[in-house]
Amino acid sequence: MSRLLIVSNRLPVTVSIMDGETHVLPSMGGLATGLRGPHERTGGLWIGWPGQAAPASAKRRAELTQLLAAHRTVPVWLTRSEVTHFYEDVSNGAIWPLFHYLIDQVPLRVEHWDVYEAANAHFAEAVVAQYRPGDRIWVHDYQLMLLPALLRRRLPDARIGFFLHIPFPSDEVFATMPARDAVLRGLLGADLVGFHTPAYARHFAESVRRILRMPAEPDAVVMEGRTVRVGVFPMGVDAAAYEERAARPEVDAQLADLALGTAPGHDVALFVGVDRLDYTKGIPRRLLAFEQLLVRHPELRERVRLIQVAVPSRTAVGAYQKFRHELDALVGRINGAFGTPRWTPVHYLYRSVPDAQLLALYRAARVMLVTPVRDGMNLVAKEFVACRADEDGVLVLSEFVGAAAELTDALCVNPYDVDGAAATYYRALTMPRDERQARMRTLRARVQSYDVHAWADSFLAALEETRRAAASE
Ligand code: UDP
Repeated sequence: MSRLLIVSNRLPVTVSIMDGETHVLPSMGGLATGLRGPHERTGGLWIGWPGQAAPASAKRRAELTQLLAAHRTVPVWLTRSEVTHFYEDVSNGAIWPLFHYLIDQVPLRVEHWDVYEAANAHFAEAVVAQYRPGDRIWVHDYQLMLLPALLRRRLPDARIGFFLHIPFPSDEVFATMPARDAVLRGLLGADLVGFHTPAYARHFAESVRRILRMPAEPDAVVMEGRTVRVGVFPMGVDAAAYEERAARPEVDAQLADLALGTAPGHDVALFVGVDRLDYTKGIPRRLLAFEQLLVRHPELRERVRLIQVAVPSRTAVGAYQKFRHELDALVGRINGAFGTPRWTPVHYLYRSVPDAQLLALYRAARVMLVTPVRDGMNLVAKEFVACRADEDGVLVLSEFVGAAAELTDALCVNPYDVDGAAATYYRALTMPRDERQARMRTLRARVQSYDVHAWADSFLAALEETRRAAASE
């Protein structure tokens, strides 16, 4: 089997220094889990940024490079200014909001596009240095959208795949991007461009047609005589592993803790939200809809509780700092207006939670609220379903997340319609047990069958297929 070179902005490991000693710790993210199999099986490499600025001394860089090599990972060293301008300003400050349809969050003038180009060129150097004929290259996500074309120029025969983990917006929105031509041409350097949903693939093809004036179908674009395949690969989670971990005794202990604070005989139904603190996740409107639930159904006061976990994220980006303060104020206002001496309607945790606590929240949720205003896929929704071996709990899912295309047995909401969402929360809360069970069974069948391993395997099989198709052209 040919080697797989995986390229992503962040490596699946983190370098940390404890007691003066350097350690390389694997991270637990979905991408790392999904690609671990193909990465190890093929004796491949993972190329990316190790999460810290390049050490000044060449000796130290060489030491770290050697430590990372033991994990089959290769560092791309970014300077402090590249981290600021490529990662924070351009990728997270401009591309992220634009691709999530939040044009008003895009800075009035996007500076430092040249640093984004330079960083992509660094990644290209690193890949070319490792490449051996026959290797397959799989590039990930919005930080590296110029990379496929840069690689194609240097390695014309290489088999290159690209997967976008965030939405590809409608061509009307994408067309506002100043660097739109470069981005499309960058992506079209690949043999296969993958998206989470058919809609994203359609938007991409439509953008190519409209902006580059090239023939494009939702499943293929012909670029200078070369066919670029476009495919749909909805990313899943490691469902079996979630189910197994959620059944462990330490999770049971956490569940018992969650029940504490509830007076005996006093059943309080839990609503749960788990998100990175990001303006795409729809947390303010979710809180307003929960407030509406309490306004319309006073009988639910002291009978329901929302636990909202907001994991700190991108704290160096100004928009995130401002957003955090707005959310603090909103939670405070709702709790101030509705709370009683023995009941706080919204428990707000601004931190990441330990694994056992997260799994306990998934298991304890009567209603899981996944209501982003826009999200490429949303893995929290799938993790929740994977953990519900009891076939209970109701998933309320925004129609604007990638997962909505697959999880059609969730209760679907338009997160912008706060009153409609409040009505759906009520329906979720009062749904009879047999309906909850029937819906959860269907959701589980989907999440279990198309898991993260199936996702990686199907992308790689399609990439292989492009080689066969090219050979027979
Ligand atoms: N998560 C985490 N720490 C926490 C709570 C959640 O790492 O304290 C994880 C969660 O299990 C999920 C991921 O963060 O795997 C969020 O992924 P999702 O696709 O929902 O959204 P993203 O953050 O990628 O936009």
